[in-house]
Amino acid sequence: MSSVKEFFKGTGIEDALLKKEFFSLILTSSLFTAIAFLVESLIFRKHPFCIAIYIAMIAFLSILEFAGKKDDSSSMQKKRYISYSILMGCIFLPGVYLVGGGISSGVPLFFIMVGVFILLLLDNALMVAIFIVMIAAAGTVYIIDFKNTDLITGFTNLGDKTYLDIGISTIIVGLSIGFFLRRLTKFFDENQEKANELLGRIENAATKDPLSGAYNRRYLMEYLEDCIKQVEDEKLKTFSLIMFDLDHFKKINDTYGHLAGDDCIKNLVLILKRSLRDVDVVTRYGGEEFICVLPTAEDTPAFRRAEQIRVAVENTQLSADIDKTITVSGGVFMYKPGMRPEELIEAVDHNLYLAKEGGRNQIVWHDGGIPPLVYAAYSGDVLEPVQNSGRRFTDATATKF
Ligand code: GH3
Ligand code: MG
Ligand code: MG
Repeated sequence: MSSVKEFFKGTGIEDALLKKEFFSLILTSSLFTAIAFLVESLIFRKHPFCIAIYIAMIAFLSILEFAGKKDDSSSMQKKRYISYSILMGCIFLPGVYLVGGGISSGVPLFFIMVGVFILLLLDNALMVAIFIVMIAAAGTVYIIDFKNTDLITGFTNLGDKTYLDIGISTIIVGLSIGFFLRRLTKFFDENQEKANELLGRIENAATKDPLSGAYNRRYLMEYLEDCIKQVEDEKLKTFSLIMFDLDHFKKINDTYGHLAGDDCIKNLVLILKRSLRDVDVVTRYGGEEFICVLPTAEDTPAFRRAEQIRVAVENTQLSADIDKTITVSGGVFMYKPGMRPEELIEAVDHNLYLAKEGGRNQIVWHDGGIPPLVYAAYSGDVLEPVQNSGRRFTDATATKF
């Protein structure tokens, strides 16, 4: 007795999202089928008992639907599954079988459909017992039908209309099952979409920096490993790194506040993303330090791109609250076979350090070697070649605060 009580209390599994959705579809399909069978019984002038059972069935299914909407608890879910199985499987359907025309009517199709639904709900001993009772009830009415055909035909004798009854019932049950499966597929699809979206968000949170949307340091290390492996496997020719660091950023923060500083970081990342190709990866290595990885790029194009970015930053107001020009320094380094990610970062960081040492607002490669010819991409419609613009031995006037 106590186990039955326990059962009715619920374990929590019964209000699992999928099961609830499942049962809601079962109820809707059953309700549709019962209404269609009621209409059909009225048209075929079946026995009043048969019509009465269909009406009772519809009332019961509606109450179940209503009860589920009012009370969402686990124990209510259980009560709904159990009462559906007992009433539909063991009482209503054996009843309509007897008074609605027996084996040669369309009722057995409805019976089979509900049997399958109950089978889908089975997940504990009580439901199994109910299912067995249902099979026994189905067997009993079938034997009654077999042994005493007159009793069945005494209630409803369809005569010539038997085939029509079976045909219409097939359509009704087919439509119900079709509806059930369609909705179930939609439910799965929607949930899959939600799961994918969630996965995407988790992946984003694990690999991206929330402030700027750039990839984080962990992702950078994995990506560098990946690039190195691809070069070793000869799937990638080479790749280059550009490391940027905002100049005098501490001072910017101190003068204009941290929020304005954050704006600069966000806008710098926007410039980086816009200036680089889709295949390039922008990562936030530290506070205001960014490492960009450019697959396939040799150091000359990487340098040119870095220089274009430097000029773009110089010409952009990175925060609405900051009226002074903000600049960035950068280092460029191309992968050399055998290097590890840490060594690569050290090498590009060294060039960045030289850029800072050299007066900031400049890009350095090859330990300060002569830079390549760079076309000023941001100087107007006509691109003018700018000699040695990468190495601007200015006094960094732009960032005097
Ligand atoms: P340098 O030109 O040599 O790079 O000088 P710097 O002042 O930029 O260098 P430093 O490394 O001393 O300062 C970095 C500053 O970046 C310190 C820190 O307050 C700031 N910073 C780091 N992360 C953030 C951030 O997420 N938001 C803001 N607003 N500031 C940050
Ligand atoms: Mg800095
Ligand atoms: Mg720094």
